[in-house]
Amino acid sequence: MCGVNISPVFSWSGPVTGTDFQARSHAALNDSQLRANFRRAMDGLMSKRRSAFADTEELESLRDLGASIRRNALAKLPELLEKLEANCSTNGIQVHWAETTRQANEIVLQIAQRRDARRIIKGKSMVSEEMHLNRFMAGHGIDCLESDLGEYIIQLDHEMPSHIIMPAIHKNKDQIAHLFEREVAQGRYTEDVDELTAMARQKLREAFMSADIGMSGVNFAVAETGTLCLVENEGNGRMCTTVPPVHIAVMGIEKVVERLDDVPPLLSLLTRSATGQPITTYFNMITSPRKTGERDGPEEIHLVLLDNGRSRMYADEQLRQTLQCIRCGACMNHCPVYTRIGGHAYDAVYPGPIGKILTPQIDGIEQAGELATASSLCGACAEVCPVRIPIPQILVRLRREAVNRPSGVGAVRGSGARRKGLEALIWQGWAALHSRPGGYRFFTGWGARLGGFLPNVGALKEWTSVRSKPQLASKTLHQLAREKGIAGE
Ligand code: SF4
Repeated sequence: MCGVNISPVFSWSGPVTGTDFQARSHAALNDSQLRANFRRAMDGLMSKRRSAFADTEELESLRDLGASIRRNALAKLPELLEKLEANCSTNGIQVHWAETTRQANEIVLQIAQRRDARRIIKGKSMVSEEMHLNRFMAGHGIDCLESDLGEYIIQLDHEMPSHIIMPAIHKNKDQIAHLFEREVAQGRYTEDVDELTAMARQKLREAFMSADIGMSGVNFAVAETGTLCLVENEGNGRMCTTVPPVHIAVMGIEKVVERLDDVPPLLSLLTRSATGQPITTYFNMITSPRKTGERDGPEEIHLVLLDNGRSRMYADEQLRQTLQCIRCGACMNHCPVYTRIGGHAYDAVYPGPIGKILTPQIDGIEQAGELATASSLCGACAEVCPVRIPIPQILVRLRREAVNRPSGVGAVRGSGARRKGLEALIWQGWAALHSRPGGYRFFTGWGARLGGFLPNVGALKEWTSVRSKPQLASKTLHQLAREKGIAGE
C-alpha cells in the first residue's frame, strides 16, 4: 500500500439524483463564501481568455476552423471510428465498445480482475465521472485514486466536480488547507500553496509507483494514426499513462478527429479558451504500448469507447452539434447563471451551459429536463464557444422536447415528460390569440394594463418581487403611428 489515506473517498455515493434545482440554487446563492470563490475564479478565467485572444480577427477565423473540423469529424463519425479502431489495433491498443456506462464499467472491471488489480490511479476524465467509475470499482473492492490535484482535493472531501476543467474551483485556499490538515497532513495546518502541493505530490508519487492500472481520458483521438491525445498541466496524466503496467483510456465516441493536422487548431482553441494558456505544460500523444527494447510505458493499453446516448444525439442534425464540444469550460466561465450558483447546484456531472444541453440528452428529460430551463438565453455561452455550438438554440429545442406530446419516438429520451395539461392549454390559447391581429391587440392591451396589478404573493412572487411593474404608456404604438399619419395605420 502506498500510504495514501483514501478510505473515506470510497464512501462517496455519487451525485444525488433529483430535480430540485431551484432549492439547490437558492442554497448556493445564500452561500456568500461559495459566491465569492466563484466570482473571483471566473473573473480570473474570463480575463485570461480575453488576453489569450487579443486579436479578434484571428479568434474568429480560428473558431470557424475549429467548428468546421468538429463538424467534419461528426459528419464522418461512423467511418472515423472504424478507422480509429483499425489503426489502434494495428498499433497494439485494444479497443472496446460500450453502449452504456454499465458496460464501460464492466469492461474496466474485467481488465482489472484479469490483472488481479487492487489499485487504479486516475488522470482527469469526465467520461469516467459520467460512468461513476470510482463508486462502481469500490463496490468490487478496487480502489480508484484521483491524481489530478483538483480531483484529488474533491475526492478527499467526497464531492463531485463543480467545473469540467477545474473540479475544485469552488474551494478557496483556506478550505483546502483545512481539508489537508484533516485528511493528509495528520493535523498539521499550513496555507502555503507550495507545501500543500508537495504533500499531495508525495502521496500521489507513492500511488503512481504502486498502482496496478493507470486510467485517463482522451481529448482527441486521431483516426488516421490511431493516436490518443491527452492535454494536461500537472504531469499526472503522463504518470498515469506510462508508469503502471496497464493503461486504460476512456472516451466518448465523439472525440475522434480525422487527421493529425486537425489537432493543433483544436488544441490552441482548447487551452486558450479554458485557461488562457497558449499551450498546456504537457501534451501526450499515445500510440502504442511499450515495445521490445523500450524502458518505460505500459505493457497493455486499452481504449474504451463509450456511447451513452451519443448515437441518439448524432441521429438528430440539430442535437448533433452538442457533440462538437471540446470540453474547454469557457461557456461555464461566462454564464451568468453558472458563475452565481456554481457547479454543484446542477447536481450533474456536466454543469453549466454545456451541461444544460448534454445532461438532459444523456440522463433523459424526465431526470434532467429542468436544467434546460436554467438559462436566460443571453447567448454568452455561444459567443465564447470555440467550436460555435449554438447552445441557446439547443436549449430552446430541449425545452420544446420536454413539453412535446409524448409519442415514444422523440429525439431525446423522455420527450414530453414535462408536459402539463393546463400549461399546454394556456399556451395553445396564447398562440391562438397572438396569431390574430385583433386578438393580439386585445390581449397585449389588457395584459399590459393588468400587468401593473400583478400581486407580490404566491407563485407570482418569484417573478414580481424582483421586477418593477410595467408602466403603461398612455397611447399604443399604433395610435401614435396613426396620429403621425404613418402609412398603413
Ligand atoms: S460547449 Fe463550447 S464553450 Fe462549452 S465546454 Fe464545450 S466547447 Fe467549451
